[in-house]
Amino acid sequence: MTAMHPSASNRFSQLLASRPWLLADGATGSNLFEVGLVSGDAPELWNIDHPERIAALHRSFVEAGADILLTNSFGGTRYRLKLHQAEHRVAELNTAAARIARGVADASGRTVAVAGSMGPTGEIMEPIGALTFDQAQQAFAEQASALAQGGVDVLWIETMSSREEVEAAVAGAATVGLPIVCTLSFDTNGRTMMGLSPSDFAGIEKTLAPRLAACGTNCGVGAAEVVACIHNLAQAAGPDVVLVAKGNCGIPQYVDGAICYNGTPELMGVYARMALDAGARIIGGCCGTSPRHLRAMREALDAHTPGPAPELDAIVATLGEVSVGARAQWGGELSRLGGAAAGANLKRGSGRRSGGVLL
Ligand SMILES: [Zn+2]
Repeated sequence: MTAMHPSASNRFSQLLASRPWLLADGATGSNLFEVGLVSGDAPELWNIDHPERIAALHRSFVEAGADILLTNSFGGTRYRLKLHQAEHRVAELNTAAARIARGVADASGRTVAVAGSMGPTGEIMEPIGALTFDQAQQAFAEQASALAQGGVDVLWIETMSSREEVEAAVAGAATVGLPIVCTLSFDTNGRTMMGLSPSDFAGIEKTLAPRLAACGTNCGVGAAEVVACIHNLAQAAGPDVVLVAKGNCGIPQYVDGAICYNGTPELMGVYARMALDAGARIIGGCCGTSPRHLRAMREALDAHTPGPAPELDAIVATLGEVSVGARAQWGGELSRLGGAAAGANLKRGSGRRSGGVLL
């Protein structure tokens, strides 16, 4: 990075340049349920209605060792807010989200970056759905602008699943001029709901302008699967791309009518180390990850001597099973049929590849 580079004075870029790894925070939604959020409520409204509860959650993650705080703005596009009759409050809610996190970060006494969380619109884009590229880009640009206004260091697009929405979100975020991170949720047999594999994403990332400051995976179906996806992404993306692992706290389970995650702090510590060795430089937790889990991850990473990338057998033995699809990709089988079903003819399904995108 040269002094002329526009991101030279950016907190996120500086942290990334000065440290071998960074710890991102844990869950937003599942921790807010603990303090009164009700399923179906928009967490973003709490940026105005209960800012002290949002600040307290951010503070608990900083105290647990987080280097990056994600703002409480995941559902902050006008399309998601419309479900709560709040589509006219995009600027207000996102700027408030950014200011709350900024305040906590700046009071921490060390460098903590604030990442403006941007989740999917919830609409299906053309050609399958009705949302046009321009509409989506405008919605993301509107959110990004409000987050920048509130003082975020980086725009953090997460839980994406389609190529169209990734491109629209990055184009919208790019209007602000901050670094951009994007993570996909590979929650469907090693692919996103819309069929993208980590290898597909690596190919798409190379075509984005601007390129991403970091890319990776969040949420998903468990710690083992996230580590396998990071391995598969690292194989395809190459060593120059900064990778993010923000996996759920184990596997979701219904207990007494509520969703719980079965990951212990110990498991999340092991996950953090394996994700690092598999190639991730930014590691955090998604759904179910409490400050207690995050602290265990911080301690595990601080005490860890980086080692060789873990073998698949070691990941499965330590963190649990991975999907048939992720396993097939690990073995170099990158076609859509790879691991599609037990007994599928993988040879017949071999795809021809061009520019990182499947033909
Ligand atoms: Zn999640």
